[in-house]
Amino acid sequence: MNVRAQLAMVFHLDKCIGCHTCSVACKNIWTDRAGAEYMWWNNVETKPGTGYPSRWEDQLNFQGGWELTRNRELKLRSQGRIEALFKLFYNPRQPSLDDYYEPWTYEYSNLFDAPEGDDQPAVRAISQITGEPIDIKSGPNWDDDLSGSPIYAANDVNLDELTDGEREQLFEVERIAMMYLPRICNHCANPSCVAACPSGAIYKRGEDGIVLIDQNKCRGWRACVPACPYKKIYYNWQTGKSEKCILCFPRLETGQAPACFHSCVGRIRYLGVLLYDADRVPDALRVDDRMLIENHRNVLCDPFDETVIASAKENGISDEFLFAAQKSPVYDYVAKWKLALPLHAEYRTLPMLYYVPPLLPVMGKTDADSYQSTTSDLFSALDNARIPIKYLARLFGAGNVEPVEHALKKLLAVRYHQRQKQVGDVSELISRAMLKAAELTEREAEAIYRMTALPNFMERFVIPPLNREMSMEGTCSPEQCKGGCGFGPGQSLAGVNRD
Ligand code: SF4
Ligand code: SF4
Repeated sequence: MNVRAQLAMVFHLDKCIGCHTCSVACKNIWTDRAGAEYMWWNNVETKPGTGYPSRWEDQLNFQGGWELTRNRELKLRSQGRIEALFKLFYNPRQPSLDDYYEPWTYEYSNLFDAPEGDDQPAVRAISQITGEPIDIKSGPNWDDDLSGSPIYAANDVNLDELTDGEREQLFEVERIAMMYLPRICNHCANPSCVAACPSGAIYKRGEDGIVLIDQNKCRGWRACVPACPYKKIYYNWQTGKSEKCILCFPRLETGQAPACFHSCVGRIRYLGVLLYDADRVPDALRVDDRMLIENHRNVLCDPFDETVIASAKENGISDEFLFAAQKSPVYDYVAKWKLALPLHAEYRTLPMLYYVPPLLPVMGKTDADSYQSTTSDLFSALDNARIPIKYLARLFGAGNVEPVEHALKKLLAVRYHQRQKQVGDVSELISRAMLKAAELTEREAEAIYRMTALPNFMERFVIPPLNREMSMEGTCSPEQCKGGCGFGPGQSLAGVNRD
């Protein structure tokens, strides 16, 4: 056993209202400067939709993440060792400006400086790259709230496996069914960006697992950009270096939540420590896609287990970190309740940001104006979901419907339980039957409800003291990581250092 600590995250999608406050908070602090105009370390996508950069999930094109070879070894999709050398100079898998957008601003000065006349002065869009007027053709969230429009939704990669009938069903109701997907760097436990970097500039901090780019070491080769399957690394065209979300580590080090978490209007975000067994990581990922979610959970360790605590202490994890792990809302959502799932686990980077899938739709009403609640058909609302579960399974189940269905059943059972208590239009018998079918106790249902609807700041963000002077950074130095992950001779796993 080789226990590591990771600051991990949960986003509860039923609570996201798509306001983009998170994106703006991040932009104002970190990327409001030359060369970073197009960077959205935090962005919010509308699904179904193409996302940002456009069709980032199309790994046949971008070749991000890891793939399983015939020998059940993990290999970077974007490059082998020899290939990596050639791709330093030309990489056809790099996303282009068209995949992002040409950043623009407006000629605001015209509002003040225009000569007096009969007409109101207007502002034109100006390219932030050339300074010339431009026709805006796309933007960071161009399909915002238009997920149903055939132009955008039909291009969503996750629709590929839907039958014609399912697609038809989706498009019939597109005007009323959509969900928001806020995204930041997942601070993966097996990050392909670290593995791909020829300069050893990207590293995973030993004490909290935050993935960072050393700006002094980055040589701007950009191998990380295609290698990250989530497209969460951006190239700064002014400095010639790559940049990414730093999980607001300067804020964390002073006990504050990251800006996007702190400002989140829907309070959808949770932050806490997860403990995982680095020794279990390689085998957990060398399996078929349908096993990935379960294996992902199996890598996580029970923070109350004595053996886990002993191994953690041996690895230098402090008592404060262990205490935080025991109080972590992320552990509850991911491991205890099995409600939160990783996004695209099939990329095999072991993302440390998990999502509670949205319970779409809200329960339909019957003609008699009461909620469906026949014992024989307790979860019919899921079967009639406006966004097919198969689609959600592409996002959150690595293609496997079962874990998504399991999570949605629990959410639905909690909702019925609360209706029975608060509104009284569901019988106690039905509510109990649903809890049982969803494998939930009444106590758990109460705890889930509390953590979803009523948590205060301290319950959502359980941040351990980050004592940098006592950091374990040396246990995952870039040089060591590079040798042991992807780019090096072993081409094995990143972020897992056994020294
Ligand atoms: S591979 Fe993971 S850790 Fe690296 S930039 Fe992408 S999301 Fe972040
Ligand atoms: S601030 Fe919160 S609620 Fe608003 S879009 Fe971002 S994640 Fe969603």
